[in-house]
Amino acid sequence: MSVETVSSMIHWLGHDSIRIDAGLTIYIDPFKIESDLPADIILITHEHFDHCSPEDIAKIRTDDTVIVTEKDSAEKLSGDVRVMAPGERLTVKGMEIEAVPSYNLNKKFHPKANNWLGFILTIDGTRVYHAGDTDFIPEMKEIKTDIALVPVSGTYVMTANEAVEATLAINPALAIPMHYGSIVGDANDAATFKSGLKGKIDVTILKKG
Ligand code: ZN
Ligand code: ZN
Repeated sequence: MSVETVSSMIHWLGHDSIRIDAGLTIYIDPFKIESDLPADIILITHEHFDHCSPEDIAKIRTDDTVIVTEKDSAEKLSGDVRVMAPGERLTVKGMEIEAVPSYNLNKKFHPKANNWLGFILTIDGTRVYHAGDTDFIPEMKEIKTDIALVPVSGTYVMTANEAVEATLAINPALAIPMHYGSIVGDANDAATFKSGLKGKIDVTILKKG
């Protein structure tokens, strides 16, 4: 499937919340969502309230929903919860899921030792990376992906300019900024990110919804 086709399946629901309509309905970090399409799979990157939100999960889960997350979020959730650590792979309902490291280098909010997650999904051969709450970490140089969803707000995660450097290292066909417009960061961060990559990597700024 082409990058363009897969990117058209990706919906930004605000902050770090993503819904991917790829036959299966997949949510990543649903938070303050208005979408009520039932989830086949929910991925949770880490336990912070704006990423692991039991109230939002309750809006979209069914008896068949599989939740994939790390150990700390798993303690707050019930149902069919699968726990992953960075470096592990799992196939759920035919969807290949890879868990990758996601942590801070120069701030204390997301310690490496917590083993919190970013995810790479493979959708009909096209890889989609959701970075989670992270700085530009050395492991990003090893990430192979077609589409990269990267945080740009600063404070708890990379700044927009750091996200430009990270995206150049990841070198995806398409990058999408996230983690702004809600808790921290605003549209200027997304615009800074896009202009920093101009002529180098395609950037799509998604409209909410
Ligand atoms: Zn966080
Ligand atoms: Zn966050």
